[in-house]
Amino acid sequence: TVALDTDFFRRWMSAVAAAVDREAQRLTELDSAIGDADHGTNMRRGFAAAVASLEQEEPGTPGGVLVLTGRRLISTVGGASGPLYGTLLRRAGRTLGDAGSVTPAQLRDALRTGVDAVAQLGSAAPGDKTMLDALYPAIEALGASGEGFEAARRAAEEGAVATVPMQARRGRASYLGERSIGHQDPGATSSALFFAALADTVGT
Ligand code: ADP
Ligand code: MG
Ligand code: MG
Repeated sequence: TVALDTDFFRRWMSAVAAAVDREAQRLTELDSAIGDADHGTNMRRGFAAAVASLEQEEPGTPGGVLVLTGRRLISTVGGASGPLYGTLLRRAGRTLGDAGSVTPAQLRDALRTGVDAVAQLGSAAPGDKTMLDALYPAIEALGASGEGFEAARRAAEEGAVATVPMQARRGRASYLGERSIGHQDPGATSSALFFAALADTVGT
C-alpha cells in the first residue's frame, strides 16, 4: 500500500488549482445556465489563494495541507461552493490529525467524513443535483483499500453527467424548478476535477 505524504497532498491541491484554472470558463458556462455564472471564477480564486498560502505557510502534514486549503476557500470564496468545499477539506484534514503520511484507506475515510459534513451543512442528499452527486460515488469507488483512484475519477465524472436529468433541490439552481432539468451541475463538475486531480497526482 502506498503512503501519501505531505508533498503528495500539496501536489494534489496544486493539480486541483491547475484544473479549475484550465476549466474555469466551462464551469462558469454551466453555472450561467442554472445559476449566477460565477462557479469557475469562484473555484479559480479560491484554489489560487489556497496554493499561495500553502507555499507561504508550508504546513508539515497531510491534514495541515487540507485544513489550510479549506480555510482559504472559506475566506476567499463568496459563493456557496467556498464554505461547502472548505468544510469538506477542513473536516477531512482534521480527521487525518497530525500524521506525517496516511494510507489511501485513511484518506478515503477522511473524505467520507468531510463529504458527510458537506451534506449536513447544505441540508442536501444524493439526487438533489449538487456536488454530492459526484462526491459520494467517487468515495464509494475508492473501495475498501482506498486505492481505486482511477475508478473514483470515472465515478465522479459519471456522477456529474448523471446530474443532467435531475431537478435541483438545493442551491441557486433549485430556484429554477423544472427548468434546472437538462443541465449539468457546475459543482458536481468541479468535484469531478477534484478526483481527476487526485488520480493524476497518484500517477506522477
Ligand atoms: P453560488 O451558487 O453561491 O453562486 P457556486 O456557483 O460557486 O456558488 O457553486 C454552486 C454549486 O454549489 C452548485 O452547482 C452545487 O453543486 C453546489 N451547491 C449549492 N448549494 C448546495 C447545497 N446546499 N449542498 C451541496 N452543494 C450545493
Ligand atoms: Mg454560482
Ligand atoms: Mg454566486
